[in-house]
Amino acid sequence: MLTHSNEVFNSGRTKVTVFYATKYISNYQNVLTNTINLLFPKRCKLCNEPLSDPKSGICVVCIDSIAGWPPDFNPAALADEIFGGRIEIEAVYLLASFHAESPLRSALHEIKYEGNVELAGKLGRQLAIRNQLNQKGFTSVTPVPLHPAKFDLRGYNQSEAIAKGIATEAGISAEVLLKRTKHTPSQTKLDRTHRWSNVEDAFEIIDTSQIPSHVLVVDDTITTGATLEACAIQLKRVGVKRISIAALGYATA
Ligand SMILES: [Zn+2]
Repeated sequence: MLTHSNEVFNSGRTKVTVFYATKYISNYQNVLTNTINLLFPKRCKLCNEPLSDPKSGICVVCIDSIAGWPPDFNPAALADEIFGGRIEIEAVYLLASFHAESPLRSALHEIKYEGNVELAGKLGRQLAIRNQLNQKGFTSVTPVPLHPAKFDLRGYNQSEAIAKGIATEAGISAEVLLKRTKHTPSQTKLDRTHRWSNVEDAFEIIDTSQIPSHVLVVDDTITTGATLEACAIQLKRVGVKRISIAALGYATA
């Protein structure tokens, strides 16, 4: 914008003036933002308390309350329960089990439909800490991909943001190994059989030249497991030896 006025910038004094003017405006904007935040604080979407970090959408107390499951729920049995007899999945790691009233449902809404990348990353980190994912020997963390059309619509892949949170916390490399080649209709109202026919050939491996040996596949939630199974089949097909799955939540009735 200012490149046509080179002569203006030849003057040292003008340079200094422009520098201080820019700094002044930026300080002014900061003061304005801080004042607005003070007068009209952003509130936690779950408990309505003012947020110390306005970008997070949900306060630290509520983030803490998301994790966990009832005593009769056993995540260690999920790999067999969901995938047993069809494909070998070593383990399923969760942050929480959830139902209609769970705080995780509001958090997922915030992540998927309000574009809250930061919250997705934070919950990914929590998932890694609570399951000690730094100690499982993964060589790669990879997200369930979105179809490009859906990515454009949403602006980001929530599973990728969760995967990045896990990777950062656990010190594992995050890689996008899969792409979605089929734009599938929403799965929320489908049973397992229909979900499977919806996704079974929806994924492809991006690059078969460097295949990691031990992969953690990340999705936002697990319902029937059909999407994750379709991803795992593609990974096994190109030689990935060990696969585990991580998701923020497992939907219970
Ligand atoms: Zn809260």
